[in-house]
Amino acid sequence: TTHLVWLRNDLRINDNSALWAACRARHARVIALFIATPQQWHQHNMAPRQAEYIWRSLQQLQQSLTEKGIALHYHQCDDFTASVSYLQDFCHEQQVDALFYNYQYEFNERERDAAVERRLTEQGVTVQGFDDSVLLPPGSVRTGNNEAYKVFTPFSKAYRKRLRAGLPECLSAPQARAETPLTTLLPLSPFDYPRESFDEQLFPVGEAAALQRLRAFCRQPVLDYPAQRDYPALEGTSRLSVCLATGTLSPRQCLHRLLREQPQALEEGQASVWLNELIWRDFYRHLLVAFPKLCKNQPFAAWTKKLAWQQRPEQFDAWCQGKTGYPIVDAAMRQLNATGWMHNRLRMIAASFLIKDLQIDWRLGERYFMSVLIDGDLAANNGGWQWSASTGTDAVPWFRIFNPTTQGERFDAQGEFIRRWLPELAAVPDKVIHHPHDWAKKNHQRLDYPLPIVEHKAAREQTLAIFEAARQAS
Ligand code: FAD
Repeated sequence: TTHLVWLRNDLRINDNSALWAACRARHARVIALFIATPQQWHQHNMAPRQAEYIWRSLQQLQQSLTEKGIALHYHQCDDFTASVSYLQDFCHEQQVDALFYNYQYEFNERERDAAVERRLTEQGVTVQGFDDSVLLPPGSVRTGNNEAYKVFTPFSKAYRKRLRAGLPECLSAPQARAETPLTTLLPLSPFDYPRESFDEQLFPVGEAAALQRLRAFCRQPVLDYPAQRDYPALEGTSRLSVCLATGTLSPRQCLHRLLREQPQALEEGQASVWLNELIWRDFYRHLLVAFPKLCKNQPFAAWTKKLAWQQRPEQFDAWCQGKTGYPIVDAAMRQLNATGWMHNRLRMIAASFLIKDLQIDWRLGERYFMSVLIDGDLAANNGGWQWSASTGTDAVPWFRIFNPTTQGERFDAQGEFIRRWLPELAAVPDKVIHHPHDWAKKNHQRLDYPLPIVEHKAAREQTLAIFEAARQAS
């Protein structure tokens, strides 16, 4: 018997449901396959740093699988459609009896997987899918009226209750298949997609490094998380998002490690705040399944289709480059461009600025983030953008608009973070760092830094009018 594990965004051997199930039959020959689909990735705006992260993780994964006696095959084709045909041929050639894979919840991915299931079943191959990138399967936690939750707080409450009733199991890595491990690695040629290097100190490559980061985080920093997580100058968050997005780490591993180090986390206390973020992650995944329109460029709230977004290509470019004249927004965008990651508080500030100060369609921002983020993930990114745009489920109320200057003053009071990314403000004293041009004018200094591209107060009034008009029109 031959079992095939089709790997996608689950690049690990520990706690991998599909891999574990494929290896359950002791005497089966188990092989693995990864299919790169560069054209599809272009369509999905995958960031070159994420492509590099996947590439590097694949190499490590191949090594770990080989030690277990499992050969990792690799193939590149254009897109998902081509990958379905390739899988059929591959299964035929390798005489595969059963295919094992972990679900992806995005619309195109689900369509592809449905096609694979159909075609392989016709071919006589048994196909088994698993809910693996979430703590609890989408659709399994519903309201009293048997509907999908649209509001986070009751969802989170119900989720915790379910988790307290029984934790999802965390599976170990499979045992080695053969007496002697495989010694040769099949060729992995780099995929035909732009790749860009990233700082490995910031983003752990491979599952051993991810587990180490997780363990260290759950011991102590998780207790400081509630107090520190909103301050971008501090290293107050886990920075595990790329691992979770590509699957070098699973959310179940996070949950189990958290509870091992902090047994109260399911109930209350500091550590429960970080658990809440893992639940936000699942919430957005569950929403994708319940409302597939979220994958199709559509707002959740239908009335927001009537919002009159402005065409402002120059201002959009200024935002992308971190040249809006608002220091906290610019520092945020430069962190993103330079590292492929942005602090969560800053994602909210930068998104709000694009939408509610520049009145630019949130979908442009969503796409730009995706094209640069190393941790780009459709569910979380779309959720974050729709939250900021007030177009989503449980979104920020449309009339509540962040003041980018006040946000900077609150969350980077001394300008420590701003200074890291805006060297052109080096001469500006701490207490006026959020108003650099006022200081420059008063002191007859010239700053090589743009004037604000929009005046917040006036922009706010215009935005309120745009939202009000859309509401009236629907
Ligand atoms: P931690 O604070 O340590 O959180 C732990 C994990 O929980 C994260 O790694 C992540 O997997 C998950 N998580 C945390 N916050 C959220 C959240 N609000 N929504 C969903 N999951 C969350 N996250 C992504 O993983 N990919 C994205 O493409 C993405 N785009 C975003 C866009 C916008 C506009 C906003 C407001 C948020 C976005 N987020 C995204 C959520 C969040 O900003 C990042 O997950 C977080 O900053 C990653 O850093 P961390 O690993 O240190 O997080």
